[in-house]
Amino acid sequence: MTGQRIAVLGGGFGGVAAARVLRKLLDTSHSVMLIDRRRRTYLCGSLPWLIVGDREADKVSRSLGALAQRGVQYVQAEVEGIRLAEGRIHTSAGIQTFDYLVVATGAEYDWAAVPGSAEAHSFYNIETARRLRDALRRFRSGRIVIAVAGLPYKCPPAPFEAAFLMDEAFSSRGTRRDIAIDVFTPEPAPLGVAGPEATNSIRTTLAQRGIGLHPAETISQADVSSRKAKFQSGRVEGFDLLVTVPVHRSAAQVREANLTNQSGWVPVNGVTLATQHPNVYAVGDATIVQMANGRPLPKAGVFASTGGEVAARNIAAAIGVGDGAAFAGEGYCFVDQGHGKASMITGRFLQAGQPDVTLAPPSLRWHRKKLQFEADWRRWRI
Ligand SMILES: Cc1cc2nc3c(=O)[nH]c(=O)nc-3n(C[C@H](O)[C@H](O)[C@H](O)COP(=O)(O)OP(=O)(O)OC[C@H]3O[C@@H](n4cnc5c(N)ncnc54)[C@H](O)[C@@H]3O)c2cc1C
Repeated sequence: MTGQRIAVLGGGFGGVAAARVLRKLLDTSHSVMLIDRRRRTYLCGSLPWLIVGDREADKVSRSLGALAQRGVQYVQAEVEGIRLAEGRIHTSAGIQTFDYLVVATGAEYDWAAVPGSAEAHSFYNIETARRLRDALRRFRSGRIVIAVAGLPYKCPPAPFEAAFLMDEAFSSRGTRRDIAIDVFTPEPAPLGVAGPEATNSIRTTLAQRGIGLHPAETISQADVSSRKAKFQSGRVEGFDLLVTVPVHRSAAQVREANLTNQSGWVPVNGVTLATQHPNVYAVGDATIVQMANGRPLPKAGVFASTGGEVAARNIAAAIGVGDGAAFAGEGYCFVDQGHGKASMITGRFLQAGQPDVTLAPPSLRWHRKKLQFEADWRRWRI
């Protein structure tokens, strides 16, 4: 088959991996186009470092314009409509046609789901992370409440990592004893998705560092003027600085194209990552992949990346190149704990029964690996 047009929607971990692998596998009679509203993308895994002043924004970003050097046509545009039956994408830069499609639009944030949360702080994108960094720089005393507003959310360890790094930053500034840090999460236990070993480790470290943990609590309303947060349980908590992990949902255009199911996410074949629509694949945070225990696979860059590669290989195979690939649901994640140490969670999440997850205790080695990952990402090695 020659002259196929492949469109990739989204230039995050999943979309970039898909576009790069497709370009490597297919000859130039086929076109590979990636559409994203943003030219510059940010490594979210580095945002917890940014909020405590350990990173500048330009050190954790890269330009999607560099894809052109890799033979991928990059279009900076808003995807406004996905017309699956017609093979068309309506964008702010005109209409694009496709023979194969990879949906990698990630998750968007629904700030309205928790009234008042848009006026509070967050660190789940570069804009909110920068604002939080400025607020934390000025913060001298009082109570910081970190509240997860809903499940699922990206990178389950991130709120705890943020708390550990805040603890370290305030300790080194000499203000820690005047600052309380509390984490509220809807999960019955922290990091439940990674199993009991990870849960116990996070619990113990939070306690050792004097960070309050409040599981099974979902924030429902925030009032920054009276500094009060309401929870679904009826509990009301005071704060001096509120940081929320917003409610996540799939992109509006993906929902409007009827790609999602009742979960609100795009269901895919857990092996091929094909959707129920012919020639349409979806990867990363936009999707729902069920683990054997019935819970959804966590939303993480590592799964988006490997998913992008699998979808690309399966599209290439459909065009007549290679044998395709199966999504394994294997991945790792570093949890930086401050003081130059990180722990590492490694798992086979799609195996029968429960996910097989191991936790390597905090060490300098995993912190260095996390730094290496960041450097590789910036240099386009990932
Ligand atoms: C604070 C934080 C820390 C994290 N730490 C880690 C970590 O340590 N390890 C890890 O594995 N993961 C981590 N993650 C999760 C990881 O960042 C995500 O899982 C990953 O980015 C998902 O990749 P994706 O390609 O599915 O989506 P995204 O990376 O979100 O990319 C989606 C892209 O689609 C574009 N887009 C969406 N809609 C449209 C539209 N309508 N028009 C045009 N463009 C559109 C967006 O601009 C975006 O660039 C972290 C996340 C956060 C927020």
